[in-house]
Amino acid sequence: MIVRTAAAIVRQRCPTTASSAAAATSISSSTTRAALATSVPLLPFSAPSSRQQSSAAAATEDDGSGFIGSSKDNQGYSIAGSFREGRAAYLDVSSTTPLDPRVLDAMIPYMIGSYGNPHSRTHSYGWESESAVEVSRAKVAALIGASPKEIIFTSGATESNNMSIKGAARFYGKGGKKKHIITTQTEHKCVLDSCRAMESEGYEVTYLPVQVATGMVDLEELEAAMREDTMLVSIMAVNNEIGTRQPVEEIGDMCRKRKIKFHTDAAQMLGKLPIDVNAMNIDLMSLSSHKVYGPKGIGALYVRRRPRVRLEALFSGGGQERGLRSGTLSPALCAGFGAACELAGDEMSIDRDWVDFLSDKLVKGIEERIPEVSRNGHPEHRYPGCVNFSFAYVEGESLLMALKNVAVSSGSACTSASLEPSYVLRALGVDDELAHGSLRFGVGRFTTEAEVDFLLDLLEEHVGRLREMSPLWEMVQEGIDLKSIQWSQDAHHH
Ligand code: PLP
Repeated sequence: MIVRTAAAIVRQRCPTTASSAAAATSISSSTTRAALATSVPLLPFSAPSSRQQSSAAAATEDDGSGFIGSSKDNQGYSIAGSFREGRAAYLDVSSTTPLDPRVLDAMIPYMIGSYGNPHSRTHSYGWESESAVEVSRAKVAALIGASPKEIIFTSGATESNNMSIKGAARFYGKGGKKKHIITTQTEHKCVLDSCRAMESEGYEVTYLPVQVATGMVDLEELEAAMREDTMLVSIMAVNNEIGTRQPVEEIGDMCRKRKIKFHTDAAQMLGKLPIDVNAMNIDLMSLSSHKVYGPKGIGALYVRRRPRVRLEALFSGGGQERGLRSGTLSPALCAGFGAACELAGDEMSIDRDWVDFLSDKLVKGIEERIPEVSRNGHPEHRYPGCVNFSFAYVEGESLLMALKNVAVSSGSACTSASLEPSYVLRALGVDDELAHGSLRFGVGRFTTEAEVDFLLDLLEEHVGRLREMSPLWEMVQEGIDLKSIQWSQDAHHH
């Protein structure tokens, strides 16, 4: 057992490389585990002072980084000027979190020594693995106030969302009487695409709009959308782009009264805010391990037993996980997810204090140091670790390029050829131009204050620099109201 206070581990970055090296040499000695918990972080984040030194050096010479750009030609800004040694500051925890070293400790025995198939009933190897799976199931259940029998292990929230929507729709829609599903326009892609798939199978889906700016569901609109043939409402708990927390308690209550099944995607809420499936009247809930410092590749689906919720399984096979999810479970991943849930439960208030402190610093820093910014999402009804800002008069892709040394997410689906702005921000009423200049920042258990300071310095510098190059910004500075301008014939569309 690692005897370690949470406060000591908070603010320490995850020593992933040290862990795997240690794992290769010795998997069970307590010295190794102690080393894991206290080892020097191997993902160095250079303090801002060293960054300034390297910028100064880079400004005068080619540092071989390949990011020389225009400075070589003496034409002004060069990205080399802000390139530095070490890894980028990680401010993207809504996308994924580093593995907590204590979670790795819990996993290692099931990767090497205890390798039995947890579904093997005839020998001790199987029993040992099965026991690890069941202990983990109980830990996941405890974090959400459920019974272990209600937890189905899956590969992650994407699979759980697919299972819930397709599985419930196919089961309850069998007779042809219940063919209506309600969701919102700001759900994760996997929910929206699962709903689309059901539309092609003859189901009808209402994609509810959300309230302007806050992203909250309007309960009256939800009520108005509920019909005799509505079988499922799927509304996420916390939005992954803007952090808005939906009123799941009220939604659960409305659904229960009408005997409509309520599914919530709680990938961004698990371990961060308290969840009680009974108090919230949740019937189906999707969970993901890698958002709570657990391993990637595992998650769970909570499936209520009383009143019983039925699903049609997506996979055919050995009938594992109560017949709902065939396939051999990974005891190591289960053990990791269980340990991550246990830690999240034990340390929720410590994590919360740290996340509150950092996100406060980040939000205030942006608002005080950079003019013309707007924060997206609900100001109070939110998870504070997910912060989304629009920077007016800034071209988002250029800002992202300039922020090479910080890992953040952009507000646009920049993989698409059309550079389509985020559909979530669009649903909030953010215009396309502003949505392009939007970034999501995530802070969590292992984020350091130095990373936030570093981000703030870079943001101030580069938002300012990019605006200096913007004719629109110049006009705004001259006091011209851009809305009053009659642009000639939409010229930029040609
Ligand atoms: N739902 C939400 C709200 C998410 O943020 C994510 C993460 O990307 C997912 C679902 C998908 O989760 P997973 O990566 O576990 O499939």
